[in-house]
Amino acid sequence: AAATQNLSYERHTAELTNCIIAFLSPILPTEEEYRIKEATRRQLERLAGKVSPGAKLLAFGSMANGFALRNSDMDLCCLIGKAADGSTPPFSASALVEELGQLIREETDFNVMPLPKARIPIIKISRPPTAELPYEISCDIGFENRLALENTRLLLSYAMVDPPRLRTLVLFLKVWTKRRKLNSPYTGTLSSYGYTLLALFFLTHVKRPAVLPNLQRIPPARTLSQEEVLLNGHNIYFYDDVATLRQEWASQNTENVGELLIDFFRYFSKEFTYSRDVISLRTEGGLMSKDNETWTAELCIEDPFQLGYNVSRTVTKDGLYTIRGEFMRAARILTSKADHVARALAELCE
Ligand code: ATP
Ligand code: MG
Repeated sequence: AAATQNLSYERHTAELTNCIIAFLSPILPTEEEYRIKEATRRQLERLAGKVSPGAKLLAFGSMANGFALRNSDMDLCCLIGKAADGSTPPFSASALVEELGQLIREETDFNVMPLPKARIPIIKISRPPTAELPYEISCDIGFENRLALENTRLLLSYAMVDPPRLRTLVLFLKVWTKRRKLNSPYTGTLSSYGYTLLALFFLTHVKRPAVLPNLQRIPPARTLSQEEVLLNGHNIYFYDDVATLRQEWASQNTENVGELLIDFFRYFSKEFTYSRDVISLRTEGGLMSKDNETWTAELCIEDPFQLGYNVSRTVTKDGLYTIRGEFMRAARILTSKADHVARALAELCE
């Protein structure tokens, strides 16, 4: 009987996997969307060059980490022009926000909202879709946020090690959290970045055998200098030779995405000890104990590079209660509606 049950569970999760892939395929960005966004990036980079000669505008976040859905926001980071000796001249992010914001307003048809006084000064720009450019563009430009470029590269490297499973899992979580309104750091829940770290923690540290290796703990192929490893005092090392990893990292874990997703929801509804543990991807076991000084929040997820910094500090007690309730609902729907998997997925994302 147990064997029959296993077989039917396997069949169920295989079908769920197919349904997830079919569900996602029409909401992935098109080539055209990437092209238009890239053209926008270049246009803005040209303007940034007028304010700070030699400035670069680099994409980070979902447009660069392999986890984009259709019509995702664009996150851009402006690296200001270098001095003759290669160093970064002193700058004021607030002044740059004012100046570049003004220029974009004068020279383009974007709506521009400079936020020079924000904790992290940014320029918010947007443009509604038109007949010729049928994509809404909504973009944040920040300055010299090099850690964000690095953590984007870390996520991209993970995405490339096991693309079918990690990417599918993260993309599904993003759609689901957005539809269920669980993806809004401003109102007490968690950012996409936070959910992505939860998925990475789960695949690297919870699942046995692991689906992913811990890139921050694979030794480098050659000795690295301090300058290569340290960025503003943060250790940003991770093993980034993805080509080698794809050849050599063969996960013994054969679970499909459907099975992993159900298990993810189960783990975070019942097993993870929110009151005791801090998720910390970079560590050997992926967990640290909460203390009473640094880690006091309801949900604690340490940034992979900024030690002691809680990515989920926006999550309130109510927010976490809601999120956990949603994890339970998801686990229930995905396991009980075995007769019609596509319908269960639709209900899950209502
Ligand atoms: P979406 O498609 O929903 O915009 P995203 O993949 O762009 O998702 P965001 O949560 O918007 O994810 O984050 C974009 C980038 O900003 C991340 O890759 C990360 O570099 C940085 N970031 C976002 N939130 C934080 C945070 N709490 N702490 C540090 N960096 C963050
Ligand atoms: Mg984003």
